[in-house]
Amino acid sequence: MGDLRGLPSVDRLLAAGGPILDRHGRAAVTDALRAELAAIRATRPDPLPDMAGILARVSAALEDRARSALRPVLNLTGTVLHTNLGRALLADDAVDAAIAAMRAPAALEFDLDGGGRGQRDDHLRGLLCELTGAEDATIVNNNAAAVLIVLNTLALGREAVVSRGELIEIGGAFRMPAIMEQAGCRLREVGTTNRTHAKDYRAAIGPETGLLMKVHTSNYRIEGFTKEVLAPELAEIAHQAGLPLVNDLGSGTLVDLRRWGLSPEPTVAEAVAEGADVVTFSGDKLLGGPQAGFIVGRREIIAKINANPLKRALRMDKIRIAATEATLRLYRDPDRLAERLPTLRMLARPQAEIRAQAERLAPRVATLLNCQVAVRDCASQIGSGALPTENIASAGLALTPGAEALSARLRGLATPVIGRIHDGALILDLRCLPDDAALLDALGA
Ligand SMILES: *Cc1c(COP(=O)(O)O)cnc(C)c1O
Repeated sequence: MGDLRGLPSVDRLLAAGGPILDRHGRAAVTDALRAELAAIRATRPDPLPDMAGILARVSAALEDRARSALRPVLNLTGTVLHTNLGRALLADDAVDAAIAAMRAPAALEFDLDGGGRGQRDDHLRGLLCELTGAEDATIVNNNAAAVLIVLNTLALGREAVVSRGELIEIGGAFRMPAIMEQAGCRLREVGTTNRTHAKDYRAAIGPETGLLMKVHTSNYRIEGFTKEVLAPELAEIAHQAGLPLVNDLGSGTLVDLRRWGLSPEPTVAEAVAEGADVVTFSGDKLLGGPQAGFIVGRREIIAKINANPLKRALRMDKIRIAATEATLRLYRDPDRLAERLPTLRMLARPQAEIRAQAERLAPRVATLLNCQVAVRDCASQIGSGALPTENIASAGLALTPGAEALSARLRGLATPVIGRIHDGALILDLRCLPDDAALLDALGA
């Protein structure tokens, strides 16, 4: 048992703790010292720690607390748009625009030409119409909000007709039937899980109908004996009955991904051209921007949505408006898009390049972690509900033995490294690794 009379006082420790005080402030250091001294009194270690030992422990505890829970991680899961890791990374232009909007006042709702009041959506409206071919556009907090406000505006107290094959759950509490209920409309399911016909939609239309809806089945595929009514035919059915067609694309994309060797996802321009009156899609999925919900479509409908009081509750802040505008501008130059937009750059990285990176890194990672490291071909995914059954050939490192323990160890680093466990190995898919140094620095620190 240590003799507690030998313990230094808080005042003496504070006097000796110069650099820690400079970094964390007197109040926080005093609290941490008191807590540490109380712990020592309670456990009476023998020998008692000296001043330097106590200060070192307090410093470590304060450093730990100062680390943000949102600190950067390396996403080596192989899922490029990982919802739990924050989805899309922004382009440099978008980051710069966001910072500028944070640092100084911006003409967010101010008309610089006339000096009067402006509309916050005007900054994006023109760009969105240009890139999608839609008549008008508006934007809200995310795509879930976009779906909510569209349904609430067009079908409050009425029925929204949707195929049973498209009643998606995206994850968390986003389930199409629940969103419909929250929006105040009644879900009218038609068809069956695998087959829905034009006649099913026609039979469901009546005086209670508010709209027809098509939902992109983002995270699953129904295969085999199937039948789906495609958007152009559905638009015709809706318009014959004087009803709007809403198409929720989910991820959506503004460009044809085949250009970069990827499988095609429906583009927003296609969905507009197919006759949908309203199309909704996300900002931080394939589009590669900040979290946002885009609503594009017919002018009268967009005007009604803008007049809905929910719009104010779901509106976007200036920081993301600035970043969204900068992201959308990049789409004016598709030739340089893959260079500038991190999401596309990572998706388009050829397997050979990733494998070469894995060959370079394998021996150095083995030394740093003192484990076995093999170069392994693997499969990346887009993630966030785009091409769910599609894999992209990739390469990475397979770490053994003790995959679970290795995984926990890498998660505990100052810059956590997140991989995935497969067949008893910890796989680090290198598709999303910005450069060799990023991994070596994270492991070496
Ligand atoms: C992802 C998705 C949503 C929700 O979009 P968030 O941007 O995550 O709010 C809605 N509908 C579909 C079809 C989706 O894929």
